Amino acid sequence: MRRPILAANWKMYKTTGEAEEFLDRFLPRVAGVSEVDVVIAPPFTCLDRVGRRLAGSKAALAAQNVNPQADGAFTGEVSARMLVDLGCRYAIVGHSERRALFDETDDFVARKAGALFAAGIRPIVCVGETLAQREAGRTFEVLAEQLTGSLAEVPPGRAEELVLAYEPVWAIGTGHTATPEIAQETHAFLRARLVARFGPAAGRIRIQYGGSVKPENVYALMAQPDIDGALVGGASLDPEAFARIVSYQGSGEKR
Ligand code: PEP
Repeated sequence: MRRPILAANWKMYKTTGEAEEFLDRFLPRVAGVSEVDVVIAPPFTCLDRVGRRLAGSKAALAAQNVNPQADGAFTGEVSARMLVDLGCRYAIVGHSERRALFDETDDFVARKAGALFAAGIRPIVCVGETLAQREAGRTFEVLAEQLTGSLAEVPPGRAEELVLAYEPVWAIGTGHTATPEIAQETHAFLRARLVARFGPAAGRIRIQYGGSVKPENVYALMAQPDIDGALVGGASLDPEAFARIVSYQGSGEKR
């Protein structure tokens, strides 16, 4: 019912030449993969080059950010229409690094997602609690607030195009992956909130887990009923590691 979606978030890594080298090694390794959606989100500077290489492959192009305005005097920004022009089918919004380092609010994230929907790009909306919030027992309260705010502009009838990424901030880039049980408990909570908001369509919304996903832990995470994919940072920079993550079903790495 929900097709798994494995996405690479390259953050501010890789020049165009390095992106080409990655694809030379990655694409042949995943040519036979057909059961999952594969997404690559390179930096803006690589979107054109990577998009050309992905055309005709099974992997889809994603952006890591977007400005909600259609156009205008917004120096340094990129609009959804520009992303469409480059062949982007997904865009990440609300990543915790953008929330923390660039002061992005739920309202701003919601406007970005709305602009992406309007342009026909599927948003990957990230939510997640910090370690201090989890230790204070506030995880569900924080996630509920982020969800309500960040999804405020999902157009009626289009909820299933949304991808939600649960990324506990304490697990991002730290090597401390959430256990499959903790991740599943949180995904089940998010699913229940999505049901309350969108009704039966929530059963078709894919929820990715993100936070130190590696070839060694992806199978156990993906085996959980409400984990429909992974958003992968560090391990997605290595073509072999990301190919093993994408091929998790046949990797023999069941744990
Ligand atoms: C991310 O930044 O979305 C992420 C999950 O990073 P990492 O896999 O490195 O923890």
